Amino acid sequence: MEDMNKASLTKLGWKVSTEPASVWIQCVKARYWKGRCFFSLFPRQNNSWGWKNILATRDLLKKNCCFKIGDGSTVDIWSDPWIPWKEGFMAKLELNNESIAMVGSLETNGLAAEILSENFDPTAIVAEPVPAEVLSNGDLGYGEGDENNNNNNNNDNKTQEKKREIVLGRNVHTTCLAVTEPEANDEFTGDKDAYMASVLARYRKTLLERTKYHLGYPYNLDFDYGALGQLQHFSINNLGDPFIESNYGVHSRQFEVGVLDWFARLWEIEKNDYWGYITNCGTEGNLHGILVGREVLPDGILYGSKESHYSVFKAARMYRMECVKVETLVSGEIDCADFKVKLLANKDKPAIINVNIGTTVKGAVDDLDLVIQTLEECGFTQDRFYIHCDGALFGLMMPFVKRAPKVSFKKPIGSVSVSGHKFVGCPMPCGVQITRLEHINVLSRNVEYLASRDATIMGSRNGHAPIFLWYTLNRKGYKGFQKEVQKCLRNAHYLKDRLLEAGISAMLNELSSTVVFERPLDEDFVRRWQLACQGNIAHVVVMPNVTIDKLNDFLNELVEKRSTWYQDGKVKPPCIAADVGTASCLCGLHK
Ligand SMILES: *Cc1c(COP(=O)(O)O)cnc(C)c1O
Repeated sequence: MEDMNKASLTKLGWKVSTEPASVWIQCVKARYWKGRCFFSLFPRQNNSWGWKNILATRDLLKKNCCFKIGDGSTVDIWSDPWIPWKEGFMAKLELNNESIAMVGSLETNGLAAEILSENFDPTAIVAEPVPAEVLSNGDLGYGEGDENNNNNNNNDNKTQEKKREIVLGRNVHTTCLAVTEPEANDEFTGDKDAYMASVLARYRKTLLERTKYHLGYPYNLDFDYGALGQLQHFSINNLGDPFIESNYGVHSRQFEVGVLDWFARLWEIEKNDYWGYITNCGTEGNLHGILVGREVLPDGILYGSKESHYSVFKAARMYRMECVKVETLVSGEIDCADFKVKLLANKDKPAIINVNIGTTVKGAVDDLDLVIQTLEECGFTQDRFYIHCDGALFGLMMPFVKRAPKVSFKKPIGSVSVSGHKFVGCPMPCGVQITRLEHINVLSRNVEYLASRDATIMGSRNGHAPIFLWYTLNRKGYKGFQKEVQKCLRNAHYLKDRLLEAGISAMLNELSSTVVFERPLDEDFVRRWQLACQGNIAHVVVMPNVTIDKLNDFLNELVEKRSTWYQDGKVKPPCIAADVGTASCLCGLHK
């Protein structure tokens, strides 16, 4: 009973010291404390019994709470410990200058230097920490009339949106949510908190809305990670090598290695023979795989089909590697006849090959077995080539499709990577990269201050991602993913068939859930469904969260809009034969 009493009184004490804006506290304030701080009040004889009891809770509060020094306007120079690195420090009253009572007034009336010159710490900070803004003419502006500027920008924004061009060398700032400096009294009024809460609530609403219409990007949005919300309070960082404990203790290596083992089993490599890590994205996997290839074969030439992801060519530029682009078939697969010609022309140099397990635009799967066979036919022995498999898109789908070429370390491949936020369905960008342990020894350096080995591209690594991956792999398992793959392929066929039935050019690769079709005429439609377009084609990537209902909505809307776009016959639907072959094209010419 006594504890309960104490608890509810202390709660009142807490309220008094933290909610100065509430009406009840305004009343108490007017009656009892007249401009002083709650923690420095003396109980008076004529105070009520209740108030005295509330004051008595301060010791407990003081022991267990701390206060944040804001601008110092309510921090008492003489009775509050306000210099953080001097524990228990209290200013001594040396001058009889009662006019300075609060820390905040030191700066403004310029007396600080005079009074405290000897006591002051040399780590003192500048008086005005808010930098001036750099205006577009290069001048410095000081925030006046910001709102007018914003309004002008908003108008610009509308005209700009109509054009929708990518202007290189010009960044768009008009839609940004500016960071505003806190007001001196924000902590008391709560205005800023309320403002931020409303921005976040609105943002959440757009996320919900945008998630509903989402067909063009291969992100599996079918997940519920509510159980992991409790972990957001931790700064989890797996810096360095997943297999070597570093000095930083707040990590999730145990989850990371568990996830890696799962993928190693999928790609048929023994635990003791592989090395890998959870990357920041599929791109990092490609950068790593190609780097390993180059370190193993330093004078190797990088080969990749021209429909490879742009990160492959970025790697070539970053590492200043010679790079040869190989032609593709209409399906988007690497053309091994052309590959052969190019290999034979460069027989004197080793080959590093990027093989696509699903290309970004058409979802084409390169024939790994045929690539290996071509290498052998051209006289490249296994010590003279290195294959990196870019499985960002379908790396986790192909293993479950019967007719698909198997990605396996039983074959002479060097590395495989996959994106974690695509088919796997992680809510933050991440990826998995697996290579052979023997290669890593070529690449890695020891780093003393981490007490670890440096074999990754990035230093600090997201420690949350492995936990999300671990969580979803546990829930779904190999069987769960297989079911999802089956559903995606089935729904993708449904979409392609309905499109063709409606007279719309469309193509679906045999091993893919990416449906390619004619680019919709109207950019608003493209934006609404978030379709990725390239030239005359657009695509829908059928992920597990894309249901038949959603596809029907999309189809109905497309068919309806199309009838208005092309009604008078002046504008015709685009021909996509050059992109996908004549067989899939239903334009006026190829019908
Ligand atoms: C998406 C994608 C990538 C890059 O993956 P990110 O996770 O976006 O960096 C690489 N290759 C292919 C084939 C992709 O589809």
